[in-house]
Amino acid sequence: MDKQQEYVLRAIEERDVRFIRLWFTDVLGVLKSVAIAPAELEGAFAEGIGFDGSSIEGLSRVYESDMLVKPDPSTFQVLPWRGEENGTARMFCDVLTPDGEPARSDPRSVLKRAMNKAAEAGFTFYIHPEIEFYLFKDVEGPDSPLIPVDTGGYFDHVARGTAHDFRRDAITTLEAMGISVEFSHHEAGPGQNEIDLRYADALSMADNIQTFRTVIKEVGLRHDVLATFMPKPLVEAPGSGMHVHMSLFEGDQNAFHDPAGEFHLSGTARKFIAGVLAHAKEITAVCNQHVNSYKRLWGGGEAPSYVSWGHNNRSALVRVPMYKPDKPGSARVEYRALDSAANPYLAFAVLLNAGLKGIEGDYDLPEGAAEDVAAMTRSERRALGIKSLPASLREAIEIMESSELVAETLGEDTFEFFLRNKRTEFEEYRNQVTRYELERFIPTL
Ligand code: GLU
Ligand code: MG
Ligand code: MG
Repeated sequence: MDKQQEYVLRAIEERDVRFIRLWFTDVLGVLKSVAIAPAELEGAFAEGIGFDGSSIEGLSRVYESDMLVKPDPSTFQVLPWRGEENGTARMFCDVLTPDGEPARSDPRSVLKRAMNKAAEAGFTFYIHPEIEFYLFKDVEGPDSPLIPVDTGGYFDHVARGTAHDFRRDAITTLEAMGISVEFSHHEAGPGQNEIDLRYADALSMADNIQTFRTVIKEVGLRHDVLATFMPKPLVEAPGSGMHVHMSLFEGDQNAFHDPAGEFHLSGTARKFIAGVLAHAKEITAVCNQHVNSYKRLWGGGEAPSYVSWGHNNRSALVRVPMYKPDKPGSARVEYRALDSAANPYLAFAVLLNAGLKGIEGDYDLPEGAAEDVAAMTRSERRALGIKSLPASLREAIEIMESSELVAETLGEDTFEFFLRNKRTEFEEYRNQVTRYELERFIPTL
């Protein structure tokens, strides 16, 4: 047993932990959990715990269903909402095949592969996410109307606000689990909030985001509110995105910083942005995986619809935020399409590989957009060569189907499973007859 594993075993005794949840994620980004007793842990560290992988979305084919989960001791945390006595802890796991190889369809292993490739080029990939979500009064089922918990707007200080108490409780819980929070505030929509996590390497951050979603749901239950990461729950209000600020470090040097570059950006950063832009349409299905995601992207409210970049331009897909030149570590680029209903492991892997392609292939960065690209006319955008992001899940999967970049990043099985699953989602959605159609057509047709 190594030192970290020994530390976990000691912590379990000292903190009276009785249940250990082994967490992993399916291809669609849903968190999975199996609880074991402390006595099983040594075996879990040594060999892993067996389970039926074919029952988990996208993980394995039926004829090779036996899989193992092996806990990563560096992710050990006690779950604060399960109490101090007879406590419960969790560890994220790697999914392995029966012969102990990493399962290629495990999203964590997809991201690890991309991170290892970046490491070969000398880079570590860092992420700082801004996570938006809505709080609604708790409702019974999909037929009751969604009532936001308040009518606040951007940065509003809402008196006696449910949202203050909610954010305070959420942040305290996250910090008790070792996840640092940088900012939190009311967002533009009624009942909409944002919490920004302190940057971390992309793998730790993907784990943190899975924890974050769980914490937000738990705190929602405690406060009798419905917390949702659905990308566009309200027609009249902005959607919820998960902007990600990205940087590459070489050792302790930020490879995106160059004091002599435009906006203090290095050549590496420019090529990274060029890669993300060139492959933006191919990776959209992964970054925006649900039919509802496209209602956010095309629904205004500062969500990007076009492939462009700009300095401090909030209509751009990639924005270069201002930062203090005396803090070179904070040089970064912000990708604004992602929503928090995405699988963070897969999304970070495709973003990283798109950026790395730009670096390897020495891509040229097109001219940045200084204006609001959404306010331009179609022909103005055409003249500037500004393309549109896919307008629907269907368009996004059609583009992804011929993407070598996404196929290589996800690996064949995950790529095929994802496309199959999303085609079905789109078909089911298309078959619906909506309230809109009934109201619009029954009276007149
Ligand atoms: N809610 C907006 C979105 O969907 C972002 C607003 C902001 O700039 O934070 O991306
Ligand atoms: Mg925001
Ligand atoms: Mg932002």
